[in-house]
Amino acid sequence: MKIAVCPGSFDPITLGHLEIIQRTAKIFDKVIVLVMANYRKKGAHVFTAQERAELIRKSIKQMDGMQNVEVDVYDGLLADYAKQKNATAIVKGLRAVSDFEDEFQQALTNQKLYAGFETMFMAASTDNMFLSSSLVRQVAELGGDISAFVPTVIRDDILERLRKD
Ligand code: ADP
Repeated sequence: MKIAVCPGSFDPITLGHLEIIQRTAKIFDKVIVLVMANYRKKGAHVFTAQERAELIRKSIKQMDGMQNVEVDVYDGLLADYAKQKNATAIVKGLRAVSDFEDEFQQALTNQKLYAGFETMFMAASTDNMFLSSSLVRQVAELGGDISAFVPTVIRDDILERLRKD
């Protein structure tokens, strides 16, 4: 069985992430969306790892082509997780050249940590390449409309949660 892991902070999940996950699910037998509890790009997380996982579960339940997708939370090394699950590849979305350097460095590090580790990059669609979790948070915090950025089913959860803070 070919298993792909799509790791990230997903703070919160966006339509950009979901599109990459859906496309990955067409190619692999099983996809594990992995919420990396301790992985931080910039600053602290806004949503807890469990909240982030719950938003992903709620989103994929409503979407086509997600029957072979699971959600998990992990706070260790991605290479250890991939080994433990016997994953065929890690699949990451690339939005622009700006994503590349950091992703490439991570991919090379993971190759050193685990010899069989493969990272594959999938190009974002032109529709979603501007989208990021931080953009969603900023718009939501300022009371803007996030309907075009996240699934409708989690929109109010995100707005309520960010308004509280
Ligand atoms: P970010 O915090 O930058 O939104 P995450 O760490 O949650 O990103 O992202 C997990 C993976 O999803 C990364 O490989 C990231 O490059 C990718 N990704 C994020 N947003 C998009 C998007 N709009 N389109 C395609 N891939 C994306």
